[in-house]
Amino acid sequence: MAAVEGLMQDYELSLQHVLWRIERLHQKKEVVTKRNDGVHRTTYGEMVPRINRLARALKRLGVKPGDRVATLAWNTDRHLELYYAVPCMGAVLHTLNLRLFPQHLEFIVNDAQDKVLFVDQTLLPLLKPLEGKIPSIQTYVLLADGPSKDGGVTGMLDYESLVAAESDSYPWPKLSERMAAAMCYTSGTTGNPKGVVYSHRSQFIHTMGVLQRDNLGVSEGDAILPVVPMFHANSWGLPYAIGMAGAKAVFAGRFSADPKSLVELAEEEDVTFLAGVPTVWLGLAAYLKETGKRLPKVTTVVCGGSAIPRSLMETMDSVGLRMLHAWGMTETSPLGSVARVYPGHSPEEEIRLRLTQGRVAPGVEIRITDPVSGEELPWDGVAFGEIQVRGPWIARGYHNGYDPDKMTEDGWFRTGDVAKMSPDGYIQIVDRTKDVIKSGGEWISSVELENAVMAHPKILEAAVIGLPHPKWDERPVVFAVAKPEFKGQVTQEEVIEYLKDKVAKWWLPDEVRFIDEVPKTSVGKFDKKVLRAGAAAITTSQKEGTPQATRN
Ligand code: AMP
Repeated sequence: MAAVEGLMQDYELSLQHVLWRIERLHQKKEVVTKRNDGVHRTTYGEMVPRINRLARALKRLGVKPGDRVATLAWNTDRHLELYYAVPCMGAVLHTLNLRLFPQHLEFIVNDAQDKVLFVDQTLLPLLKPLEGKIPSIQTYVLLADGPSKDGGVTGMLDYESLVAAESDSYPWPKLSERMAAAMCYTSGTTGNPKGVVYSHRSQFIHTMGVLQRDNLGVSEGDAILPVVPMFHANSWGLPYAIGMAGAKAVFAGRFSADPKSLVELAEEEDVTFLAGVPTVWLGLAAYLKETGKRLPKVTTVVCGGSAIPRSLMETMDSVGLRMLHAWGMTETSPLGSVARVYPGHSPEEEIRLRLTQGRVAPGVEIRITDPVSGEELPWDGVAFGEIQVRGPWIARGYHNGYDPDKMTEDGWFRTGDVAKMSPDGYIQIVDRTKDVIKSGGEWISSVELENAVMAHPKILEAAVIGLPHPKWDERPVVFAVAKPEFKGQVTQEEVIEYLKDKVAKWWLPDEVRFIDEVPKTSVGKFDKKVLRAGAAAITTSQKEGTPQATRN
């Protein structure tokens, strides 16, 4: 019998579809931004002609399909316009991380060969040190809220004038789904950042994934405030998910790090959905506790980027904010897994599951492998190995071919995260391959130890690193920050005593050092590279508590 051929249309999966939806279905939906000069309110209906004009302007500036257009900008409505205009005209949106050091920014712009750069007025000082060092940029465009039209920089164009000079419609070109739509660099905690290039197809499918109820579950009824920056892995895909669903968008501009502004904005705009890294929620929870304010309309607080400490999830629960733990990385677009937990568990079991990295998103496959043999490990909740993933929105390489070893020979992406898997597929990340502490031939999870320390009532935050040890190879050292009211009142002995019934004896840290603040990376994660570089060698001799001698 002859084989039957599939008779479905070859519909190209492109972001133009999302643009079509906001134009035809969601005209009345609001986009609200806290700008420097007050709250700015617009709708998708008003934005679409501006997106068309912007695409025209880009074309007039000589931007061709495949050219990179960079942004150095906060989360704003104008940034959202760029999110649509640039890829939909066939160019590649390159969001620059505004917290990077100048030398990293210089490297990234040169590596990507960006042609046009859009910059927020308040971020102009970041560009100053790059003057004369990023020759690929032919045009600078200023995103200004006030009257200043060129920010004092010669030759800089003004966004509003640029958009105003064009006509309202644009004949969008036919795109192929394999074309690049956007690029984003890894945060570069080791070595130079590497460019991840998303295609229209990958972004389209990722958007559908983000909408799924068991993933982030973005829906039309939501008012979404993405605290996660638009330069951090496409703001976790939210800008397109918001458009696809027709949700209201609320942006905090440059006020994202300020809990008071976030709470006010969320209250005033009836926000239902927040997304950001744990450090943001640490500040927000403290503010809510202090002021007694609450955000009863918020149903979802997506938290990813680092593991959620139990103490944080419990504090957020106590102020009525339910966190949804998600895991991913720039290379996974970033949706990797989400910890949705449905009724049917005891309260303890429920919180334990919510604190895992959850189960892998439909569309993505996952395995864990032995770091030495490369063999796949069982999902028994005990064995831990490197997470490898594959799927339609997972990177298969980096721009300019860096680090080809990140791909296995059989086509999986090596994440560098170390995890154990429960038999029913809950991921429990125990560390990064480079941060796991190798002590006496065994692994100690720096993350688990950190979480145990951070549960101490006098500790605000804590990072753990392995420092060289003559006998055990490495031993854990804690860098802890006391809560302001306990500054100078908590001792190493007290912390170690507290840990004794919480971790294996050989995991007990050799030292607890108190510091004022844990250094953070550009995207708010503990910067262990900085801690390691400045750390004095272990001084205490291994007294009672040697790893092997006291193991049970
Ligand atoms: P980035 O590409 O900057 O988003 O960083 C990705 C990395 O952040 C991952 O490889 C993990 O090491 C870490 N990460 C992201 N989400 C989580 C999470 N929920 N729990 C633990 N680590 C996470």
